[in-house]
Amino acid sequence: MEVRCSEGAQTRASIAADLVRDALDFLSPLCAGARPDVALVVAGERDWTSRQPYGLPYFNDDAGQIRPGVLVMSAGPGAYWREMTEAIRDASPRGFERLRATYPDGSGGVDLQPFFDLVVVHELGHAFGVLGGLRLPTDWLGEVFANVALYSYVAARAPGSLETLSPPHGRCGEPASRRSCTGRGLQHAGRVRGPLHRW
Ligand SMILES: [Zn+2]
Repeated sequence: MEVRCSEGAQTRASIAADLVRDALDFLSPLCAGARPDVALVVAGERDWTSRQPYGLPYFNDDAGQIRPGVLVMSAGPGAYWREMTEAIRDASPRGFERLRATYPDGSGGVDLQPFFDLVVVHELGHAFGVLGGLRLPTDWLGEVFANVALYSYVAARAPGSLETLSPPHGRCGEPASRRSCTGRGLQHAGRVRGPLHRW
């Protein structure tokens, strides 16, 4: 898989490439052996030219690129989710406390980047769908497919990140002691953070 990155992002690009390659290996046999020809780009803010907010991974299959599919993710944390957390803080102090407990930044704040880093596997799911010839009648089914790809990968290959992907507290509106709606893996999930949070 071709990997490109902005200056200074080599370590993060290497970690991200390992994740994407592992997800490719995991998903390919589940998708009839399809293996989308994708490149991974880890871009710094100055190199980020997408309409997508900086920090949110995306998939692009525009013609004339370095590969039929390109997965793009940021070289550092995005600012957009800070605005989201501020809105939650203003609207629901209790909700904000729960958010801070689930996604601590180590200094009393919130860090959602580990969650958004995992979204690159959701985007890889789109690559399997788009480049693998998957035909679905609606766009939203494509999102379901990509989410199932992401969740399946994390549950099977990175269960330590399940809580990052899908925090158990308050899921389905029930208290944690009645988590009948959670997946099996959640019961064994540790407090491991997202696998890319090491730049
Ligand atoms: Zn999507």
